[in-house]
Amino acid sequence: MSSSTKKSFPGGVHPADQKELTADSAIQQIAPPKQVAILLSQHIGAPNHPTVKKRDTVEIGQVIGTTDAFVSSPVHSPVNGTVKDIALRSHPVLGRTEAIVIDTDEENPGIKTPVADRFDASFDENKFTAQQIGDAIKNAGIVGMGGAGFPTRVKVEPDTEPKKHTMLINACECEPYITCDYRVMLEWTYQFIAGIKLAKKISGCKRVCIGVEDNKTEALQVLKEAIEKASPDFELIPLQTKYPQGGEKQLIKAVLDQDVPLGGIPPQIGLLVMNVATCAAIAEAVVLDQPLTHRALTVTGHGINSPGNFYVPIGTPIQEIIDLCGGLKDSAVKVILGGPMMGFAVGDLSTPVTKTCGSILVLSKDEISKAKFERKQTPCIRCGRCLEVCPANINPTKIAHSVKHNMLDLAEQYHMAACIECGCCSYICPANIEITGHIKTGKVLKARQQKKMPK
Ligand code: SF4
Ligand code: SF4
Repeated sequence: MSSSTKKSFPGGVHPADQKELTADSAIQQIAPPKQVAILLSQHIGAPNHPTVKKRDTVEIGQVIGTTDAFVSSPVHSPVNGTVKDIALRSHPVLGRTEAIVIDTDEENPGIKTPVADRFDASFDENKFTAQQIGDAIKNAGIVGMGGAGFPTRVKVEPDTEPKKHTMLINACECEPYITCDYRVMLEWTYQFIAGIKLAKKISGCKRVCIGVEDNKTEALQVLKEAIEKASPDFELIPLQTKYPQGGEKQLIKAVLDQDVPLGGIPPQIGLLVMNVATCAAIAEAVVLDQPLTHRALTVTGHGINSPGNFYVPIGTPIQEIIDLCGGLKDSAVKVILGGPMMGFAVGDLSTPVTKTCGSILVLSKDEISKAKFERKQTPCIRCGRCLEVCPANINPTKIAHSVKHNMLDLAEQYHMAACIECGCCSYICPANIEITGHIKTGKVLKARQQKKMPK
């Protein structure tokens, strides 16, 4: 089947994928850093409260922050050590939030290694009850590790109407540069499949579809062989390589040809969408009782000396990881957490790694187009390209224009809330208008107007 006839969604763009920088780099374990900072807000939902105080001794895997709220997820220490402080620290999205700062015990730091060798094709999810699986996911603090960070226990909850019937595994990793999910599929294959089996069992889903972009030929082959041995009823679906193929609604459209209602979410039509790393974390939590204290992440871009994939304690400062990768090149101009299309630029390199951080991307001046680098913007020429590429089927210019003129109600009428902030419109715009930026601003202003966000 040629790429153009493979399943996909309407709209989208084809940025250079740049994955060759790290695609062949096996996940390497890094030593625990001297100090970690565990942010108490790492997910959608209520922030945690500290359960430890200054000068307490903590052990690797110990709960250090939690809350009774339903939509929440606890945090754990990734090292053995002593609580140095409970203070504000830089947060990739929220500015500054409270964090537990821990000095690592130099003699006995607490080293955690990947657990993939504990899983094979014979894994049987029926050794665990749905209750055991749910409790383990909750206690381990698992959240969606693809970026959104929704608490997984709440997401896989089976008792909703309509009942969830199909689970879609988002194995697209469609953002350019990032390869950590790809490496997890190659290196932790049976752990990933065990996590899918466990999530299927608790959610009550009957069908499992795994969507993989067709630029990941090796992953498709490895998964095909593993699924034949471990779970022949799982459907492996190659998808056209196109951004944002991994957007929840775009994946659903591509795989099932179904539409999620405007402003709605997948469970409303009986669907559950799970990310690769999250499935691997579920297997570790349920089978080995290990909380989410470490994650695989990609360090990449032409602005870093030695790109690669790493197994990192959550809470490690970004600067330490950059140093480990040989530091920044002189040409480096921008550090982004996440991918180039949807990630967040960070200025403070003491910002710690969170559960949802799959990539540290360092862009060089040459990687940012000259016009964008110099922020050269010209008036809209009404070419309609932004309209053509928008996967949410809305009119980006009209929304951005309304926001610029402070007409937020009009922006809402143009379905501002349906924008998934994929950045396709800004990427394609020949006038270099930061359309997505205007829309994001509009959403923040609207949330403040409705008092859903502090000023
Ligand atoms: S792509 Fe840019 S120039 Fe073209 S219509 Fe949209 S905003 Fe205007
Ligand atoms: S309007 Fe939103 S969803 Fe549409 S292309 Fe722009 S950023 Fe993506």
